[in-house]
Amino acid sequence: MVRTGAGPVNAARTVARLGRTAADALAVAGVAGGLVGSMAPGTVVVADRVLAEDGRLVATPASASVLAGELRRLGLPVTVGAVVSVPKVVHGRERRGDLARLGAVAVDTETAYALTGGWDVPTAVIRVVVDTPERELRSPGTVSRGVVALRHLRAAAPALAAWAAALNERTVLLAGPRSFCAGVERAITTVERALERYGDPVYVRRQIVHNRHVVDSLQSRGAIFVEELSEVPDGATVILSAHGVSQVVRAEAAGRDLNVIDATCPLVSKVHHEVRRFNQKGYQIVMIGHAGHDETEGTLGEAEGIALVTDRDDVAHLEVADPEKIAYITQTTLSPDDVAGIVAELSARYPAIVGPHAADICYATQNRQDALAAMAAECDLVLVVGSANSSNAARLVEVAQRCGAAAVLIEDESELALDLIGPARVVGITAAASTPPDLVERLVGTIAALGGATVEERRTSTENVNFPLPVEVR
Ligand code: SF4
Repeated sequence: MVRTGAGPVNAARTVARLGRTAADALAVAGVAGGLVGSMAPGTVVVADRVLAEDGRLVATPASASVLAGELRRLGLPVTVGAVVSVPKVVHGRERRGDLARLGAVAVDTETAYALTGGWDVPTAVIRVVVDTPERELRSPGTVSRGVVALRHLRAAAPALAAWAAALNERTVLLAGPRSFCAGVERAITTVERALERYGDPVYVRRQIVHNRHVVDSLQSRGAIFVEELSEVPDGATVILSAHGVSQVVRAEAAGRDLNVIDATCPLVSKVHHEVRRFNQKGYQIVMIGHAGHDETEGTLGEAEGIALVTDRDDVAHLEVADPEKIAYITQTTLSPDDVAGIVAELSARYPAIVGPHAADICYATQNRQDALAAMAAECDLVLVVGSANSSNAARLVEVAQRCGAAAVLIEDESELALDLIGPARVVGITAAASTPPDLVERLVGTIAALGGATVEERRTSTENVNFPLPVEVR
């Protein structure tokens, strides 16, 4: 670590003395002035862009998200954004107007000068806010704000150390297929088309698919997500999520003055159809699935008295009226191995049990699990991109672990722990059926920024499934 001292001349001279070839990476850390009113003193700004005074782009530190995540896990308040450097401390209108207009969130007098000339090595920039537009330097409380900023700067040091330790060249293996399936694409397009056709707001019962980024994006475009139909006003347009709903919800929707659009995945509807078929024939139905999942709730509500089993042990506790008249169905997003074990247990106890003509586990779940299983053993670490409430994503983590790989579920690149990625040389990546493909691209970019990456796709199958949209949005 070298101290540059304050100001452009000190920064440029000190960094030039380091020599551009001497370092494998360069981190610039210090204090700054905030340009955003809501920013509290002590906020750690992680730069994703470094701008010169005239707005020229000087550097784009590509590890910003992952570094920000690391800092947040240390308990620090963090903002990611552009840092602009100017030759002298600025006040008043110049600060509130001219610099803020560049889109920068913080201003300093060193970073751009230190990085000018180009460093062809991984770069990180953190600046801790001392003063804000409302409380500028030399206003009352400057000293205590400075103490907080320096304390946070010191507290941020372990994150920079972890970043430096994680810098290494890696091989990234991408499982194919990964990410969106046909049912998820259909559900998202249904909401988008409904917003275009009917205008906002459009209500959606439950998460349209289990992914926070998808939900946030649709919310920003006018979708309102609710738990139950009782929250939807009369006359409104409401979309039922991809996971399907029970008969009770369907009846409630039909009895209200609502424009209902059903985005249930056709493969979930197929399971509902099986339930009705078995029910009409007088079978007692057992569902293999996870309690509390939206899809399970919807399928259980398709007929009276369906028993839920989650694992082999549950089978022993079933109360069966007629062992000759029992049928099973499954949630679509389970692991085929788990299901096979439970079906074997059911068949051993109830040899007359019948099931669906073909497995209920959908093509997308099967393909994503197969692709991951084919490459997981080669990986030091497998990253599954998806939300914690995605069944599909959770099963992918289990598949990788069963293959002997360390595996974690992350929502996006900001959840990538540097100490985890640090020692990994071969990193496998897959994504749940509800995960947008661009999240995988962002994660690959983040890993590449940590010292470089050779990216290979390992594709085991190609998908060309398409489901027609609901008639209301066709
Ligand atoms: S994971 Fe399978 S069942 Fe679920 S939406 Fe996708 S295709 Fe449909």
